[in-house]
Amino acid sequence: MFLTISTTGSSAAPATDLGFLLHKHPEKTQVFSTSYGDAHVFYPEASEQRCTAALLLEVDPVALVRRGKGKGRGGAPDSALAQYVNDRPYAASSLLAVALRTVFASALRGVCDARPERAANPLPLRIGIPAVPARGGAALVRRLFEPLGWTVEAEPVVLDAQFPAWGDSRYVRLVLEGELRLAEALRHLYVLLPVLDDAKHYWVSPDEVDKLLRMGEGWLAGHPEQRLITSRYLARRWSLTRQAMDRLELARLAEADDSEPEALDNAVDEEVDTEEKPVPLAVQRREAILTALRAAGAARVLDLGCGQGQLVGELLKDARFTEIVGVDVSMRALGEATRRLRLDRMGDRRAARVRLMQGSLAYTDTRLKGYDAAVLSEVVEHLDLPRLPALEYAVFGAARPTTVVVTTPNVEYNVRWETLPAGHVRHADHRFEWTREEFRTWAGEVARRHGYEVRHVPVGPDDPEVGPPTQMAVFTTATTTTTTVTTTAKEAVA
Ligand code: SAH
Repeated sequence: MFLTISTTGSSAAPATDLGFLLHKHPEKTQVFSTSYGDAHVFYPEASEQRCTAALLLEVDPVALVRRGKGKGRGGAPDSALAQYVNDRPYAASSLLAVALRTVFASALRGVCDARPERAANPLPLRIGIPAVPARGGAALVRRLFEPLGWTVEAEPVVLDAQFPAWGDSRYVRLVLEGELRLAEALRHLYVLLPVLDDAKHYWVSPDEVDKLLRMGEGWLAGHPEQRLITSRYLARRWSLTRQAMDRLELARLAEADDSEPEALDNAVDEEVDTEEKPVPLAVQRREAILTALRAAGAARVLDLGCGQGQLVGELLKDARFTEIVGVDVSMRALGEATRRLRLDRMGDRRAARVRLMQGSLAYTDTRLKGYDAAVLSEVVEHLDLPRLPALEYAVFGAARPTTVVVTTPNVEYNVRWETLPAGHVRHADHRFEWTREEFRTWAGEVARRHGYEVRHVPVGPDDPEVGPPTQMAVFTTATTTTTTVTTTAKEAVA
């Protein structure tokens, strides 16, 4: 099986830079051995104007049989001959994807010390593969590659040129053209070739989910065929597919959050009070949360959906908070929090009080058990409503801290933000915003279901008509209070 990657260039940006990007010298022919045969890399052309790298994988049918995977889709599985005579040596399948990863590992990661700016920027690329087995035909090939910015030429290969009446085979001759970063292009191929072939040569284990998400970073989450890609890539293992889809959804969520961190919240804060220097709402919110935590006597605190760590930073300033754990689903947010809090340069005593960890609040997590308090500051509205019961159970049912502080926007207040167009939510990623009534109803039910008591605290200017901009609920486990009530009742009876 065979694949070519070509690019064009000029004297300022020679096409032969492709050699640096692929980490393979244009003047050499190199051989790499893979588990299924040798992969050769060479350059049929290499000039300033045009450069083409070719990857030729010589599949060893005997090696395939030894590994028990000789059953090509074309042959009857129990035919002895089909073990040796099948399409695998000629068709671009998951074997080619594995060869891509073996031979172009650094290029796939986008690493290129010699030409970093070329690796980071789109190049004019042309990729040619003479035989791609495509279940779903040329139409599916287009549906997979076109949304990624490729111009696709997918021509069905006739089954046998001497007998045109037999019609087309399931192979297409594929040419992709586009301006993309090389690493992106390689990742598209790495994921989509096996998806088109739809017959993986190896057992799909759970770590394939990680691999898919890594290789799909930046393009899979928004792809219109995301479900088909995920399901076929994971060999239709339903539980893995489900897990990957969930994580893609969370990644998409986190991206949206990261791109606009509190910008709108803080921007509209300026409108609150123009007389004196206004205290941003985000600051007022953190103050209100700290007050509630101190009143509860909490020392060990979880900040769930900690984002970029602003509240964690405030908690650190007060020594009564002896253990502070920030949790977020977004690695990017956690990275930013690490940088902002200077975790790596912090003195040992301080550093011993704080920990950041990745986790999703949509799943129960034993690491979160046994804390004095948990904060969900401006987090619940980032989850789709149908996911909220899962968060509710994970926090109030499973982790069960003594105190839970939840803040969320009060949608009624939105009419007071002059910069916010009518009917808009405050942040592009808010899945909903509640009225005071809606929040009270939700909080009341959560408290009842999980044995908490709840009180509500306004945050920001409490408008007589529409209420405060932020609403806060403080939940406390009812057990201690219930005992008091019972005693009081007994005393009353006595
Ligand atoms: N608590 C911070 C950040 C709020 S933004 C503050 O008050 O400023 C919402 C945060 O919730 C984001 O950082 C987002 O990554 C995180 N988040 C959204 N859904 C999540 C989930 N299911 N699990 C964990 N974190 C989540």
